Amino acid sequence: MSEPAAPDASLADTPYSHKGLTYPLGRAGPGPGEMIAIADGVGWTRSPVPGSLNHINLWILEDGEGVALVDSGLDIPPAREAWEALFAGPLAGRTVTRVICTHFHPDHLGLAGWLTERFGVRLWMTRGEWLFARMLTTDVRKEPPAEALSYWRAAGWSEDRIAAEAEKGWGRFASVVSPVPVAMVRLQDGDRLQIGARTWRIVVGSGHSPEHACLVDDEGGLMIAGDQVLPRITSNVSLNLSEPEADPLGEWLASIAKLKQLPDDLLVLPSHGEPFTGLHARLDALAAGHHGRLDALHAHLAEPRRALDCFSILFGRKIEDNSLGLATGEAMAHLRWLEVAGKAAREVREGVHWYRALPEGPASA
Ligand SMILES: [Zn+2]
Repeated sequence: MSEPAAPDASLADTPYSHKGLTYPLGRAGPGPGEMIAIADGVGWTRSPVPGSLNHINLWILEDGEGVALVDSGLDIPPAREAWEALFAGPLAGRTVTRVICTHFHPDHLGLAGWLTERFGVRLWMTRGEWLFARMLTTDVRKEPPAEALSYWRAAGWSEDRIAAEAEKGWGRFASVVSPVPVAMVRLQDGDRLQIGARTWRIVVGSGHSPEHACLVDDEGGLMIAGDQVLPRITSNVSLNLSEPEADPLGEWLASIAKLKQLPDDLLVLPSHGEPFTGLHARLDALAAGHHGRLDALHAHLAEPRRALDCFSILFGRKIEDNSLGLATGEAMAHLRWLEVAGKAAREVREGVHWYRALPEGPASA
């Protein structure tokens, strides 16, 4: 964007509201290689993502002599082409000053290394996210580690399904992520970044990823939310192989409570879907959704169940093979939350984790 501009008029005249959220720019969004100015010095573009996700939103911030990029897209040819179209079109003649990544997931980080190398600039991330990315891009092996097999067995996967998964090898993360820079600038909760005319405050959340950075411009009323708050879909919250005794859903719910301390009138710029206002309504709906599923799950555990036996309760639909991993992680996270809360007990039989409900009430002490 050579000149900061007002919101595109053809989009701005179709605002709508749904479930307590208002989408001031309507349903439309920029295509790959296109950029829409959504506020002074803040550009919005999209990068292609295969599957139902379809796209990731990327943000381009005026930063003195050039632009700072927030998130980068997957390292796949059409996403590289989208950047080339931007650099030949809306960003022609501009340089990039830095690349900021909200978290390590490949659709956010994938092209960060490629971009930082191209422009000779730094990557800015939280330490937890950067370390995860460095770890996962170097951990490539022919077969999954024994811990992975144990994890799938614990969730109730059949030996056949485990064998089929093992066939795929280990280290797919690195296949869609360009080399992650070996040095970075660390972001921490509460940091204030001066980027062009705006000051962005780092607000860290957890549960979807270890140390997810949101950027909040208090004065300008903007929030770059990453995957920490999405308008229509719920962010995946999984119990991960790396910390099988953690409580990611507890961290996620605590992060929702933390984000509710932000002003309700921020324009939220999410990584998927369209910009919206109604932050508190969305956070309340997310928390209520998880608590509703936890209550249903607790009732379902009158008989001992494995994670695999809980999909119908948690998702209300059959889980296709290609989403089995995410569904398993999500089910394990909900079961683990009930266990940590003292509402369920886990019994391990031949490596399989069976959860059953414990009676509710203060008498459990
Ligand atoms: Zn993510």
